[in-house]
Parts: sequence; structure tokens; C-alpha cells
Amino acid sequence: MDKKLELLGLKPVNQGGFDGEWFASGAVQKVISPINGKEIASVVNCTKQESGRIITKCHAAFDEWRTVPAPKRAEVVRSLGDELRAHKDELAYLVTVEMGKTLHEGLGEVQEMIDICDFAMGLSRQLSGPGVQSERRLHRIFEQWHPLGVVAAITAFNFPTAVWSWNAALALACGDSVLWKPSYKTPLCGIACTMMAARALAKHGYDPAICSLLIGKGSEVGDLITTDPRVALVSYTGSVSGGRRVGKLVQERFGKHILELGGNNALIVSDQGDLGMALRAVFFGALGTAGQRCTTTRRAIISEKIYEQFKEKLIESYRGVKIGDPRQEDTFMGPLVDAGAVDTMMQAIEEIKQQGGAVAYGGTKLDLEGGCYVTPCIVEATPAMPIVKEETFAPVLYLMKYSTLKEAIAIQNDVPQGLSSSIVSNNILETELFLSTHGSDCGIANVNTSTNGAEIGGAFGGEKETGGGRESGTDAWKGYMRRQTVTINYSGAFELAQGIELEHLL
Ligand code: NAD
Repeated sequence: MDKKLELLGLKPVNQGGFDGEWFASGAVQKVISPINGKEIASVVNCTKQESGRIITKCHAAFDEWRTVPAPKRAEVVRSLGDELRAHKDELAYLVTVEMGKTLHEGLGEVQEMIDICDFAMGLSRQLSGPGVQSERRLHRIFEQWHPLGVVAAITAFNFPTAVWSWNAALALACGDSVLWKPSYKTPLCGIACTMMAARALAKHGYDPAICSLLIGKGSEVGDLITTDPRVALVSYTGSVSGGRRVGKLVQERFGKHILELGGNNALIVSDQGDLGMALRAVFFGALGTAGQRCTTTRRAIISEKIYEQFKEKLIESYRGVKIGDPRQEDTFMGPLVDAGAVDTMMQAIEEIKQQGGAVAYGGTKLDLEGGCYVTPCIVEATPAMPIVKEETFAPVLYLMKYSTLKEAIAIQNDVPQGLSSSIVSNNILETELFLSTHGSDCGIANVNTSTNGAEIGGAFGGEKETGGGRESGTDAWKGYMRRQTVTINYSGAFELAQGIELEHLL
């Protein structure tokens, strides 16, 4: 067992259920590192019966937690932030060995968790509703917000710790209990973070079941969570197909959901921009996390005036990418998450060729240390190719040409997804058109930077098949609370609004 992982409390065999106690008696899952194909540790999954027990405990824990004043609840969030600060290096290391992103990015992910804890601390004193002017004499109207209940966070593999924290930090401050079902591909991250949350809760004398954990295959335990009426909110981060199912099941019982689904993000490279800037933005946008971010740049839509020049420079930059063990300081691109992801990428490249796309660089498997490595791929494509409208969750970048900015924006928007977008241009007429109502139709629209690399201060999420959900940002907390409008009559007389008279009928 790796010593750094022992510092997080992980053992060779770990139980995947937590509701104040650790337990699980389902299938034993070997967790394999994509870096070298070696086993990191194993996890015992929860059975369906055990999953039900966890939901019951998490739901019961909400009853007391909701009565704790929000600024007091936020002290737990502060302690969670302190735990993360104290274990930043080890947790980032775990993210790297379990998921494959570079250590730099792993550290960035944990920093983002610390940031959201600080953010939620501040918000805990601002969970307020407006006072409203009543049309009736001596009446007072105001809105208030109450805790919602159990918030289930069902999370994707690519941000195996941060997505939970975006939900958990706000949900805890809002008075909800949190049930986490991490990706089946990254269960150890789930266990390590839940241990930290349990310590933070215990330090202040609260029930650790307020942050419960349920590890199991989504196809086996997913529906149990999404159909359970005790789960007030399902915050689902994952693929569009998964979100479609989850959204439907939650809606059927009139539960609440936040859907954070796939993206198909484009970056417009204008001939009016700084080419060096555009190169950096596309390079990091396409290759960060080995093309496995929801905000990864998947399409570069390039002015025809600079297309050839930009393509050559980009290929040159791709040639210099250091691929390999993501724990090494100078590695820029680590492995894909597993062998299945490599196969999916190779199948997509075959499909691209059949549809008339030309591979300009890379797109091969790399035989390195038994890990899941590939060379990143640049493809010359056209907007008419059906595959460019899909999210291939791998480092495959499509290059396309445009002649007018209007055409570039139309190409950008002509996909089912609507998460992130960007333009590199120094022409204010262009950037304003891009940001206007005729511009990008995405939840995120950037100027002179990448499509990825968001900060927690801004609302995060997207339109169309990306699901419409938002996490983080100034008012995201409203998604984790129940809104109530109150009217108080202190006149001593009964009076109806809209001038409706009652007295003559009595
Ligand atoms: P995925 O859809 O395979 O899995 C996501 C989660 O859903 C996992 O925890 C999985 O176990 C669970 N799941 C599977 N079946 C389920 C069911 N029937 N009911 C409930 N849960 C079920 O996604 P992934 O491969 O882990 O992640 C990659 C995808 O996530 C990409 O499409 C990416 O764009 C998207 N993503 C979106 C955002 C965002 O904020 N918009 C952020 C990160 C990732």
C-alpha cells in the first residue's frame, strides 16, 4: 500500500458504505491505476439493502442538522476546508493515481475544494430572502429559505473530489444532509473525502451521517437513489445519456435536480486576435486533463485567413507534449481514465475517417508502463460531419474553417450541447457580438482565454443537452434550499388582496 495513501486513512481493503459507521458486504472491486495498470487498493461495494440503510440514516441525520443555525453549520464547512488544507498533497496524489490527471491539476482540484469551503462559509450569513411591500394595510410579506433535505451528489470520474465539494459545501451550509455516490471509477477519492467530512462533523459534535457515502455501480444503485422520495435533490454530474435517465426519474416524483452534463465546447480563433494567446488557449483547452474535462475544447473554429498557419503551429506544439506518468513534474498529459476510454477514442478516430475527417496529428495508442496512454489527436473536419456534434471524452480536437464571424458563431452553436465557449480576438466588435444575444448560446462564454479552467465564484453549467443546471456562483445556494413566501396580518381585521370583498356574503 502506497504510504501517501495511508496518510489519508486508506487501507488495502476499504468498505464503501458510510452512514456514521463504515460497512459494506457487496462485490469487491479492485481499483486499478490508469498510470501503470497496477492495483491501488480494493473497495467493498454496498448491496441494495445497505444502500437503503444509508439513505435512511442520512435522511434521519437531516432532522437535527436543519435546526443548527447556518453560521454554526458553516463552522463544519470551515473544518472541512482545514482538513483539505492539511491533506492537500496526499489527496491530490490520490486524484492523480486513481484518475490519471497530472499532479499540478490534482493540486488545483483540491485547491478548488478549499475555495468552495471558504465561499460557502461567507454565504452562510447571506441565505436571505427579500421583504415585499403588501397592498394590504398592516400586512407584512417576506420570503424565507429553509433547508431542503437529503442532497444526493452523483458524480463523474473526471473531477473525482471537487464536484462533491461544490455540492457538499453549499448543501451543508444550507442545512441539508449529503449522500454521495462517487463514480465507480474513483471510489477511493470518495472514501478519503468522506473520512475528512466525518472528522469535521465529529469535531463539532454532529452526526457524521450528515455526510454519507454509498459506493456501488450506477446501474445497480443509481435508480434506488433517484427514485427515493426521501432524496429531495439529486445533483447529477455525468454524461447526457445518464442525465436523461436521472432527470426523468426525479421529475416523475417531482423531486428537484441539478443536471451538469456533457459539453462540446468550441473556441473561435479570429484573425483579429493574438495568435500566441489563441495557441495557448486551444492547447490547454484541448489537452488539460487529457481532454477529459466537461469544458475541454473539442472544436477550434478558425478564420480561413490564418487556418494553415494556426494548424501548423498547433501541430508543432502537440509534438512537444510530454506524455507519461502524471506524477512526474514535467508531464503535461497523463493517461486516460481506463482501457475502455482508450478504446472509445480509437473507435471515434475510425468513425472520423469514415466520415471524411483527416487526422493531422496523433490519435494512436501508446504502449507505456502498462498504462492507458494515447497521443492526442488533431483532426481536420467539417461542421457537417455527424461526429463533431458528439462529445468524445478524449483528447480529440476538430479544426474547422470559417469566413465570417457570424458563420463561426452559427457553427459553434449548431450542436446539441451548450456548456462552454470562447473567442480569441482583440476586436471589440467581434467580442461583443460573440457575447450578445446573437452570440454564444452556452452557459459559459469566455474572451481571450480557454473554454476550461472556471473559478467557483461564477455559476457553472450549461444549456441544451448540458442539462441547464448551475453549481457554484453567487446564488447557487438557492438550488439547495426550499423557498417560502410568508404573509403576516397584524391589522386585527381580515382583508383580501385584489380588492375582493367578503363581508357582504357573511
Ligand atoms: P457517467 O455518466 O458514466 O457517470 C456519471 C455518474 O453517474 C457516475 O457516478 C455513475 O456511476 C452514475 N450512474 C451511472 N448510471 C446511473 C444510473 N442509472 N442512475 C444514477 N447514476 C448513474 O459519466 P462519467 O464518464 O463519469 O463522466 C464523464 C461525463 O461527465 C462527460 O460527459 C462530462 O462532460 C460530464 N461532466 C459534466 C460536468 C459538468 O459540470 N457539466 C462536469 C464533469 C463531467
